[in-house]
Amino acid sequence: MNLNKKVTLSSLTLAAVLIFVLIVVSLLSFRQFSIISAKSQVRSAAEIIRVSLTEDMVNGVVTKREGLLRRLGEVNGLKTVHVVRGSNVEQQYGKGMEGEGAADSIEIKVLQSGQPYFAAFDELTNPVFRGTIPFVATRIGTPNCLQCHQVQDGAVLGAVTVSMEIGHLKDNAMFVSLIMVATVAFIMMLMLIFFRRMVKPMITTAKDVQEAVSHAIRGDFHANIQQRTDDEIGKVAQDVNKLMQFLHYGLSGIRQDVAQLLKNKPQKGTGNLLDTTVEMVQGLINAAQFKQSIEEDETQLEIYRRLSTEVQNRFGVRHFSIYEVQAKKNQMTSIVVDGELGESCRWCDPQILLRSETCRARRTGHLIDSTETPDICFAFHPPADGNAYRHVCFPVIQSGMVGGVLQLMFGVDETEKIKEVIPYLSVYLREAAPVIESKRLMDSLRESTMRDAMTGLHNRRFLQEYTETLIATTQRRKSQVSILMLDLDYFKMVNDTYGHEAGDTMLKELAKVLMQSVRSSDVVIRYGGEEFLIILQDTDGEGAEIASEKIRAAVEALKVQLTGTILQKTISIGIAVFPTDCDTFWQTVKYADVALYQAKETGRNRVVRFTPDMWTDEKTY
Ligand code: GH3
Ligand code: MG
Ligand code: MG
Repeated sequence: MNLNKKVTLSSLTLAAVLIFVLIVVSLLSFRQFSIISAKSQVRSAAEIIRVSLTEDMVNGVVTKREGLLRRLGEVNGLKTVHVVRGSNVEQQYGKGMEGEGAADSIEIKVLQSGQPYFAAFDELTNPVFRGTIPFVATRIGTPNCLQCHQVQDGAVLGAVTVSMEIGHLKDNAMFVSLIMVATVAFIMMLMLIFFRRMVKPMITTAKDVQEAVSHAIRGDFHANIQQRTDDEIGKVAQDVNKLMQFLHYGLSGIRQDVAQLLKNKPQKGTGNLLDTTVEMVQGLINAAQFKQSIEEDETQLEIYRRLSTEVQNRFGVRHFSIYEVQAKKNQMTSIVVDGELGESCRWCDPQILLRSETCRARRTGHLIDSTETPDICFAFHPPADGNAYRHVCFPVIQSGMVGGVLQLMFGVDETEKIKEVIPYLSVYLREAAPVIESKRLMDSLRESTMRDAMTGLHNRRFLQEYTETLIATTQRRKSQVSILMLDLDYFKMVNDTYGHEAGDTMLKELAKVLMQSVRSSDVVIRYGGEEFLIILQDTDGEGAEIASEKIRAAVEALKVQLTGTILQKTISIGIAVFPTDCDTFWQTVKYADVALYQAKETGRNRVVRFTPDMWTDEKTY
């Protein structure tokens, strides 16, 4: 119910209650007044009758009283007059005239008690007031009752019942009440008009404020509420206008700033200002939180994994690829595809991996958006029907160069959704880029400390770090790894004969041969000067012997070209298998070394598999 209706209804209710109370109060007071007035009239009539009867008695004409009583009945307003003779008067003078005996129980009661009785009847239709007043004997005055009546002072001699119509009093009361009601109703009406006039600006302002607020909820803060009065209501209108203006400029400013951060042009006048601002701020907060999380990540891979989860879960993109650029080699590596790590290139021509400049985002460093120009990049390989798919590729700029590329692949029907997430994803990548770069540097630094600079092979430090993972993986897979310990035969002679540099060349060439002789899952480590350790994954003793023989033969066949001469050397290899030979990794390494010693001892250029009896001869080690 609106305020206007409320005011009218409550005023009318108030008027109705007031009128009702007035009617009740006035009718009750009129009734009371009528009864008092009727009582006094009845008393007066009774007194006149008493005086007349006494006079008649004194004058000895009491027997003629019939006429008096009849004439009294004709008095205006009096309806009936009935005189009753008391029992002691009957005893003294006998029964009176006809009809002078007690007519009803009230008269009998009044004769007995000596108390008057008054009552009103038929109040609603034809109101009549009745009074029965006793005549009580008294010795006061001359003549007095006791001079004629042989009764005690205070005895009841008789009574008179007078009834009179009081209808005219009721009519008067009704008339006066009517006038009062009309007056009150008129005043209330005037008050209502006045009141409504007074609350009108209040109601209109309230309506305007309500409308302004509902517009504000929909993001429109343009409000111009008319100030109709100078009182508090006018102030409310003024303040609401100020508040809306403040919110409009405040939020527009925030949206502008945030849009600038997002490099996203806000569309003027469209959308819900509040919603879009909140959404944009939330997007920035998410990006900031993302940055915080990746800063605490340990490796680049963890960052890529987290970015991949965000792309999938927060931005709802199912098909995407993350590529890393190897600037020096002009190559790219596929890191994540559709949320899977280590997948190969799926939505692009694999050519981009080998010739990274064929990736348009990588080459230009610009955002590549095929929603406007579908065939913008020729390297894009959509699934099946090419017309139904689009891609957006974000270059990840690190130190002014493209360090990576995030590619989104989606159906044409998802274009709008993707367009909305582009600015937010750009912020994510902008935030992530320096963190990825620093992690990348850290990773390569870490990697360099674990590699031998001369041969490029892993070093002993790497083995120390790698051991834990290796043991855990081997145990989990209930597999075995073979450890080969290798040492060039009579290498010292190379240095001594051809110089240290020739020795170094030999070692570099040897490293290449070793790398080429094992699988990519195997690990070749430069363990010492011209000592190498090779870990063969998932390989038992027999397999290791075959592989070692292959290595030995390859080294034997290696011809290193030096100025003026060709160098050819042999190598000795010792094998031990973890955990078959020993359940302690480092002890197994020692066993491989023991086997190598055996190979040297038994003629060099040989492969020797460790057997437990080799370990008993302790003085050798
Ligand atoms: P064998 O192993 O067959 O018993 O004889 P060997 O002559 O190879 O003896 P040993 O393994 O003890 O000799 C190791 C030599 O390797 C000593 C050192 O001159 C040489 N060496 C170690 N590290 C390097 C290196 O980085 N560069 C060069 N040029 N020589 C190295
Ligand atoms: Mg040696
Ligand atoms: Mg040697």
